[in-house]
Amino acid sequence: MSIALREVSKRYGEFAAVDGINLDVPTGALIALLGPSGCGKTTILRIIAGLETPDRGQVLFDDQDATLWPIRARKVGFVFQHYALFRHMTVFENVAFGLKVKPRRERRTLKDIQRKVGSLLELVQLEWAGDRFPAQLSGGQRQRVALARALAVDPEVLLLDEPFGALDTQVRHELRRWLRRLHDELHFTSIFVTHDQQEAIEVADTIVILNRGRIEQAGVPGDVYDEPTSAFVHRFLGQVNELPVRLQKGRAFLGPIDISADPEALSERAVIALIRPHEIEIGGDAAGWSSKVMAVRVIGPIVRLELVPEGRAAHERLEAEISRERFEAERFVVGQRVTLRFRRWQIYAAGA
Ligand code: ATP
Repeated sequence: MSIALREVSKRYGEFAAVDGINLDVPTGALIALLGPSGCGKTTILRIIAGLETPDRGQVLFDDQDATLWPIRARKVGFVFQHYALFRHMTVFENVAFGLKVKPRRERRTLKDIQRKVGSLLELVQLEWAGDRFPAQLSGGQRQRVALARALAVDPEVLLLDEPFGALDTQVRHELRRWLRRLHDELHFTSIFVTHDQQEAIEVADTIVILNRGRIEQAGVPGDVYDEPTSAFVHRFLGQVNELPVRLQKGRAFLGPIDISADPEALSERAVIALIRPHEIEIGGDAAGWSSKVMAVRVIGPIVRLELVPEGRAAHERLEAEISRERFEAERFVVGQRVTLRFRRWQIYAAGA
């Protein structure tokens, strides 16, 4: 099932929670909605689910206007952050719930339901847990039960709202990979809300970055990361260093480094350069910007260095990331003088 939003808006009083959103989710896609708290992610999901009606615009399911369809007609499954399992029911009963409450003419036989729940529990690798109660499971296991329950009614669309939000890093990582595999096997259309950029980049085919109810940018995760179209997206996806662009006698500089070769840097409106930590090179290049190493942190395969370039205050540190191999060869230490250069940067206008 493909989903499309056309100029969808939703206000709460004077406040535009969702503001003219256009979005196309092809059949079988896995899309992440990403953005800071309050940017409208959950509201969009609720509008697609039919839990909320937009004030303006249309929701299309397979090109049909589904804006006013009741929830039941939409064939969507949900998984929310706080495992909304029924505590007084076993795992088996939780997963079977959606099947048992179907109208009589659509309901399967008890044997059929048992078979279906059995295969779903196998799918989420919890076939051994059917008789347990939610309280007897770990957070990650409960979340898998929630997913099995959502899948029980054969949804064509799966909506996940911060499904792994309450779990620890290791479990989150496993569940992400597992969700991706499951999605690839079953081919439903999934939309998943997260505020965790790492999670979105790891799992989704397409990421949609929202800001104040509007789409800032949408695209393949790697492309959006490498080619952000606004300073907001650049800052939101990963770490950045920010440096003012200095214009002098028709040339542009970052510190002492001449970046006039970049036509954007010479624009009157150019004010700030954003540079990712891995785009900073450190070495003995005399043409670089002399800097002092303030901190060195080895983080597995990468090493993060904090640097204060000459002419900047001690708290105006830049963060650089180099490979472990490079670090092993150079052995930078705190207090050392180095020079830095920028492999890449991106220029933004004032107020961007
Ligand atoms: P979070 O990541 O914090 O969950 P979100 O991006 O999912 O945020 P939404 O839950 O979609 O954000 O909310 C968008 C905005 O709309 C927020 O500012 C919120 O306060 C407001 N909002 C949401 N639901 C209501 C409501 N029922 N009444 C009034 N305001 C609401």
